[in-house]
Order: sequence, then structure tokens, then C-alpha cells
Amino acid sequence: MAGTSQNNFHAVSLSGGKDSTAMLLLMIERDMPIDMVLYADTGMEFPEMYDHLAKLDAYLYEQRGIHITVLRHPKGFEYLMFDEPKVKPSSIENRLRLGVPLYGNGWPGIRVRWCTGALKTKLIDKEVKRLKGELGAIHYIGIAYDEACRCKGERYPLVEWGITEAQALQICYDRGYDFGGLYEIYNRASCWCCPFQRIGELRKLRKHHPELWAKLMELDDRAGKQFGPGPLGQFKKDWSVLRLEERFAQEDSTAA
Ligand code: SF4
Repeated sequence: MAGTSQNNFHAVSLSGGKDSTAMLLLMIERDMPIDMVLYADTGMEFPEMYDHLAKLDAYLYEQRGIHITVLRHPKGFEYLMFDEPKVKPSSIENRLRLGVPLYGNGWPGIRVRWCTGALKTKLIDKEVKRLKGELGAIHYIGIAYDEACRCKGERYPLVEWGITEAQALQICYDRGYDFGGLYEIYNRASCWCCPFQRIGELRKLRKHHPELWAKLMELDDRAGKQFGPGPLGQFKKDWSVLRLEERFAQEDSTAA
């Protein structure tokens, strides 16, 4: 475990979700040093999440005089999905063989989960590496006690304090951070367009965020046209967003 000297630089990773929010709120309350709070914005978060981050940023500034440092891929999710040119000879050869266009990564899949790396982990890891190298930074990550198996050599205050995911959410609620009700509806609060979310979460997306559902239908239609029926053009195995729309509409009419 890294040292805790007050002379170190203290960098906090924030995902915006309940665990990292609870960690940040408690670190502030417990007078722990915080020099930088890093957040990687995929550009595909729920509007309620952006409101939550703005509120948290205002509190952080009021308490510690710093703002959240937002990291973004220079071109973003849709560019990576539809427009990024393939340059590796093996990728080009593979795509030519499959008759798939030479640009765009398509929908993220189990085997090629490009989004997490390009839009989150690479950005955070690069900045943390720089801060460690230049300033000897200690890096704090908001993993809850019940997820302690994911810890890997950084500082994990919630684990150290024995705070579970359920407790983390309650800590946020108790301090007036309700995420605009996101956790009342969904089990998760990351990208609304994530193809790895369960069908039940997508059913709720259609019901509670119809404008995002409409955007998801557009993205999937575009992916299908650009990449065809293979994995790159496939939102979920066996399900296009259009087929899900038909399924959910059918369920609605049966329930009516
Ligand atoms: S939430 Fe889903 S879409 Fe967003 S970065 Fe993570 S895996 Fe990709």
C-alpha cells in the first residue's frame, strides 16, 4: 500500500457513481488531503449524472477550492464507433476479408470492449502515471467493501472503512446527493447506450428516458447500415434495438 504522507500528491478517481461519490464526500468530511479529482467523461452519461457531477463539483470547490478535472477522448464515443480509421495491417486485412468498412469500431463487444479503454481507463491511467512519476501521487479509488476483490495496489478508502455498496448509496442520499433518482430506476448509472446492460435495464431506459432510447435506436440503425449483421453492427447478441423496441411495445400492449 502507498504511504499516506501529507507531502504526497493525492489524486482521487471519480466515476460519478455512488461508490466514488461516497468516497469523495467522506474524504472531504474526514479532512483527508485531496489535490486532484479525476473524472473521465465518455459523453454518454445520463443527463442526471452530469447534473450530479456539477453539484458535486460545486461542493468540492466550496470545501477544497478545486474543481473536478475532466478527461475526455478528443473525438469521443461516436467518432470511435463510426469513424476511426483502422490502421493496423492485420485489422485492415481482416475487415477486407469480412467485407466490413475500414473505419469505425462498431458496437463494443465482449471480445472488443474498446470503449472502456479508450474513453476511461487509458485517460485516467495515463494521468495517474504522470502524477505518480512527477509528484509521487497516491491514487484513491472508490471500490466498495463488497467488491474488495477488485483492489489492485492503490488506496481504497471504502474498503479500508468497511463501507459496502448499499452503505455508499445511503451515504450519498443522507448528504442530499440523489443522482436525480437514477439509482431508484436503474441498477447501474454508467453509459445509457451500453450494450452490456441487461434487457431489464433497457426496458427501463425506453420507459424512463424515451429521448435516449430514440437516440439508441438511431445509433443502432446507423451501426447496422455501416457494419451489417456481424458483431460490429450487432447491439446485443440476438437483439437489435429495433427488435427490442418491438418486444417492449408488444409487452406494453399485452399488459394494457
Ligand atoms: S458503460 Fe458500457 S458503453 Fe460505457 S464505457 Fe463502459 S462498457 Fe463502454
